[in-house]
Amino acid sequence: MIADRPEIRLYNTLTKSKEIFTPLDEANVRMYVCGPTVYDYAHIGNARPAIVFDVLFRLLRHVYGDDHVTYVRNITDVDDKITARARRDYPGVPLNQAIHDVTQTTEKQYKHDMSALGCLDPSVEPRATENIGEMIAMIDGLVKGGHAYAKDGHVLFDVRSFISDGELEYGKLARRSLDDMIAGARVEVAPYKRDPMDFVLWKPSTDDEPGWESPWGRGRPGWHIECSAMSARYLGETFDIHGGGIDLSFPHHENELAQSRCANHTEIMAQVWMHNGFLNVEGEKMSKSLGNFITVHELLETDTFGGRTWPGDVLRLAVLMTNYREPIDFSIARLNEAEAMLQKWKTRILEGGLKFDGSTAAVEAGAGPCSKLIAALANDLNMPGALAELHRHAREEGLHHAQRLYGSLQLLGLADEASMKAFVAAEAEAMEDVDQTGVATRIDERLKAIANKDFATADAIREDLLTQNVQLMDYKDPETGERRTKWEIRK
Ligand code: AMP
Ligand code: ZN
Repeated sequence: MIADRPEIRLYNTLTKSKEIFTPLDEANVRMYVCGPTVYDYAHIGNARPAIVFDVLFRLLRHVYGDDHVTYVRNITDVDDKITARARRDYPGVPLNQAIHDVTQTTEKQYKHDMSALGCLDPSVEPRATENIGEMIAMIDGLVKGGHAYAKDGHVLFDVRSFISDGELEYGKLARRSLDDMIAGARVEVAPYKRDPMDFVLWKPSTDDEPGWESPWGRGRPGWHIECSAMSARYLGETFDIHGGGIDLSFPHHENELAQSRCANHTEIMAQVWMHNGFLNVEGEKMSKSLGNFITVHELLETDTFGGRTWPGDVLRLAVLMTNYREPIDFSIARLNEAEAMLQKWKTRILEGGLKFDGSTAAVEAGAGPCSKLIAALANDLNMPGALAELHRHAREEGLHHAQRLYGSLQLLGLADEASMKAFVAAEAEAMEDVDQTGVATRIDERLKAIANKDFATADAIREDLLTQNVQLMDYKDPETGERRTKWEIRK
């Protein structure tokens, strides 16, 4: 925890305004983020909430102390998409075994990918199937409290029962009236529903579908109730921050909020509802159903995108370069830009005198991010402001700025000792491949050519060296004013 706590302000979808954040309990700041449905690799759009809320998690840990923040991200391991995938990919295998394989494999891939993207493990990653008892109990309470009804093996939430002070509460997060919702949404008009907007809490399963015994017969939970049950179990009936992608704000979060408040008889579910914007490809949301998605796995391990693999920190920065509420247009140009930035920052950290060979205590001595970076993040995760701070330290000379730069990148999950060591090693390896005396000779030849105004030859030498990844940089000798040339390996 830091002594001089910055004021954190967060944009709350519920109030449509940026508010000062005051945790319900400073000793335990609590955040819930809707996690993946595990049937396929996560695409880079799915990674956006994981990365964005990881930055918020890191900020909260920095401000309130590592042991005073609880971050829950669930794993949805029961869903019709999972069942369909298991049937498709494991013909002939008993369905429950196939489902187990699909969910276990996908969950492992997800965790691997998110950690490659620099995301810390959440404090708890509960699986839906391990919380069915909690869901049944919550649904039972809703039925008994007059907020839900059972019909034909289904249990539905009665949206019109969610009233406070004589006013209908359902729709307040989405800011839509029931009539607008009905007109706008393609809601399933089922015979067992009282109102078209009533949504499923529990549904019956056929014998071969996954199912659990319940007061309403053998069945399985709807998606929304999962998050209400798991957040209550691991964070309590009310907590601080609830996050996810903007597509989840309606109906998923509206429904979670309705269920939780009605079941727990509370005024709020979460204090702040936060939503990240979409990651788009050519103007369209990246999504599995549109088929325009690139998985994190492909980006990390294959040459599907741009003919090469991309390091996790480059992907992470490419996502963080844009304010979290704005849309991102995902492109190769964006990745190149992120990569160049990271390389420059790492180079500046080394030039500033930080060593990563265990020989000095400079790294520890420099621990800690720059306070202006923290102030930028505390302002609703203002990443463009944070990047400006990083650029400012990269422009300045000296150890202090190198330390601040490194400390700030560490906080953002963009650099650590291991990645800096790998960077040093890669630089050394690239240098080994270069004939350094040869380069010095060519530089002399080029400087002579320039002196003779033979610019064609000078340019040809520059181009030739570039093909060997040697990048020349001219500068003026500060004392004599003469033209000099230095070089580095182009990455
Ligand atoms: P899903 O597995 O589809 O439920 O999505 C998991 C998380 O990723 C949710 O928080 C979604 O809101 C989020 N998400 C899905 N697609 C995108 C996208 N293209 N851009 C940003 N976030 C997304
Ligand atoms: Zn959820």
